[in-house]
Order: sequence, then C-alpha cells, then structure tokens
Amino acid sequence: MIEENIKHILKTIPKNVKLVAVSKTKPTNMIEEAYNIGQIDFGENKALEFRDKTEDLDQDIKWHFIGHLQRNKVKYIVPKVFLIHSVDSFRLLKEINKEANKNNKIVNCLLQFCIAKESSKFGFYLEDVETIILEKALEKLKNINIIGVMGMATFTNDKEQVRKEFKNLKSIFDKLKSQYFLNKEDFKEISMGMSGDYKIAIEEGSTIIRVGSSIFGTR
Ligand SMILES: *Cc1c(COP(=O)(O)O)cnc(C)c1O
Repeated sequence: MIEENIKHILKTIPKNVKLVAVSKTKPTNMIEEAYNIGQIDFGENKALEFRDKTEDLDQDIKWHFIGHLQRNKVKYIVPKVFLIHSVDSFRLLKEINKEANKNNKIVNCLLQFCIAKESSKFGFYLEDVETIILEKALEKLKNINIIGVMGMATFTNDKEQVRKEFKNLKSIFDKLKSQYFLNKEDFKEISMGMSGDYKIAIEEGSTIIRVGSSIFGTR
C-alpha cells in the first residue's frame, strides 16, 4: 500500500518537487516501510512525537517539522531537524536560534504565512516579515538559515479559493525573493500542498509538498 501510494505520487509530480511524507500519528514501522523503498523526507507536527520518533529511528532520515511549535518545545526539535516549515513568529525564531547555537548547528527554516480564510491558521503576514527584515533583526540570528516560505490553504472543496491562496503565497515568495533575498541562492523553497490539494499547489509553484493520508491512509 505505502509503496504503491508513494510511487503513484512520485510518478505524477515533477522531479524537482520534493515529497515530504507526513507520518504524524503513524507508527515507526510504517516510516521504516516507506524508508526502505527510498523515501527519506518525513514530516511530523507534534514536538514530543517528533522527539520520540527521531530517537527511535536511526536511519539517515531527513526530519521535517511542520506543526505549530511552542517555544518551550523547541529543544525537542532542534537536535534532529532538517527543516522547520512552521516558523510563525519572531519570538519563535529567536528561540530556535538559541537552541541551534547550543547544539552547534544551523537550522534551516521556512516562514509560515497566513493565506487561508480561517483566522485560526498560524502565520505571518508579509508586512510583519518586511518589518523584521528592515529592522535587520534576522541578520543577528547567526544559527538560522531561512530558505523559503510555507502556507496552508483553506480546508474547502472550492478549488478556485485554494488556487487563489496558493497564488498569494507564490507572490509573497516572489516579493521577498526580489526585494530582500535576490542574492541568497538557497532562498528558493515554497512548501505548499497536502493530500487534497498538492496538484493545484504544484501548478502554482510549490517546491515541497507535505502529503500524509494519501501515503499512510486516513488518520
Ligand atoms: C497533517 C498535515 C499535512 C498532511 O495532511 P494530509 O491531508 O494528510 O496530506 C500537511 N501539512 C501540515 C502542516 C499538516 O499538519
């Protein structure tokens, strides 16, 4: 099942789009099954589950953190994480920087933007990030490497609404890139698209999709 699902997805997406297999709530043996057929990027959204799974599995998995992260749990994420998709405040970024420094590493991060209609979704607005950049606050965070943006569309069947929101995230990325990160080659990632909407996301410029239920089954 898992093998067929992954192969199916990989067949239908461009080679330059990265598939993160979202393994939240699923047991480690399912992660191993996916790993054994060549999947190396996995995503988790809860700090303690992330800590436990990354301790249990010693394969050279690239671990992505994709959920809302509280500052007091950053310490569980930083040692093993490959990329944090869900940075939604400057205070969180400072905490990640502090832990990264303790761990003697540089942590790759994406800035999560609020693009959905539901106000419950976490994230920055473009103005927030422009302010932080203009205050030169990012440059002080020596153990942070910002490599792009992330967003979640509204949970709806309205495909045009979803497309509009992904277009918005792409335009936020383009603005940041052209105004502030033009010479930063590794600022190039747009993490958008899940099981229900990754095809639209890719049409709108996604470079990383985060797919859970279409690989591992419903939760
Ligand atoms: C759960 C989750 C996903 C994957 O959702 P599916 O619909 O199961 O593919 C992607 N991104 C985030 C942030 C999630 O929490």
